[in-house]
Amino acid sequence: MLAMMLDEPEKYRVLDLPVPEAGDGQVLVKITRAGICASDLATIHGVSPIAAYPLIPGHECSAEVVKAPDGSGYVPGDKVTVFPSVGCGNCPACDEARTNHCPTFKVQGIGLPGGCFAEFMATGVAQLVRLPDKVYDRFGPLVEPLAVGMHVNRRGATAAEETVLVFGTGAIGLASALIARAMGAARVLLVDRFESRRAVAERFGFSDFTTDSGDALVSWIREQVGAVDLVLDNVTNDQTVDVSAKVLRPGGRSVLVGLPHGDQSLMLPHTDSYRKELSFIISRNYVKDDFVKTVALLESDAFDPSPMVTAVFPLAEVDDALKALQSNPEQHIKVLLEP
Ligand SMILES: [Zn+2]
Ligand SMILES: [Zn+2]
Repeated sequence: MLAMMLDEPEKYRVLDLPVPEAGDGQVLVKITRAGICASDLATIHGVSPIAAYPLIPGHECSAEVVKAPDGSGYVPGDKVTVFPSVGCGNCPACDEARTNHCPTFKVQGIGLPGGCFAEFMATGVAQLVRLPDKVYDRFGPLVEPLAVGMHVNRRGATAAEETVLVFGTGAIGLASALIARAMGAARVLLVDRFESRRAVAERFGFSDFTTDSGDALVSWIREQVGAVDLVLDNVTNDQTVDVSAKVLRPGGRSVLVGLPHGDQSLMLPHTDSYRKELSFIISRNYVKDDFVKTVALLESDAFDPSPMVTAVFPLAEVDDALKALQSNPEQHIKVLLEP
């Protein structure tokens, strides 16, 4: 089978490899489309703290079942995506399906070797998430990044009619904004440092967009909506936390989604947070139920994330796909590979 092999940071090639063996309790799936994620770029460039080499990268896919164990409930031809976080299976978090709290969880295609930038992939039956035809055809490889946005909104308990402020309009920022609106948010304001992202936001029908920061951003938000109920902070630094504390209404919540930078601390604006009794909530990764809820929301036509896909390349041309993505990061949201 054709696969992208990453031997070590910066050293990858597309080559012909044997189809992986599905072990006990595993399924073999044929990958139909795969999305390139920022964490794949970090893995390729050797800056991911969790990557283990050599590996086939990739953890966002749509796939068809080729071979499944008897009694698994799956048969060849079933359309699926893969929940790529694999827990130890033997801790209180894993017992409660909170894989993201398992102290040793690993992601297939980052910390575990067999990712989806390949024609075939072997994975555990329990990692599969069924996709209805409509979701598979239109949005299959977007389910994983959207599930991150679902987790963010569930952590923030987004409610109907709320006013939501979203920092960052990359794939995860847009996913969290789209799902907030699909959950009934009355108004969603987007903030990004790139002006070129305004057109991207408009493609999804988000007309409240700014590149302002600091006091100018605070004034802009106050002019637009007075105060916000919820912040989905996909950037997460001292500045975004400071603005959030100023513009949140009393009792408001902010969900912090951005990855930490090493051991760096975040500053909590204590006075505003205290006076307004604000909640700052961390969101990390997702759980399998976020995939299930995302699929249900997509099936109900609550929103259309398809403009997230900005380019599609054959797997054999992964080099061109990576170049396109990295030479033009403001233009691209999700670049897909087709094995
Ligand atoms: Zn991803
Ligand atoms: Zn565990």
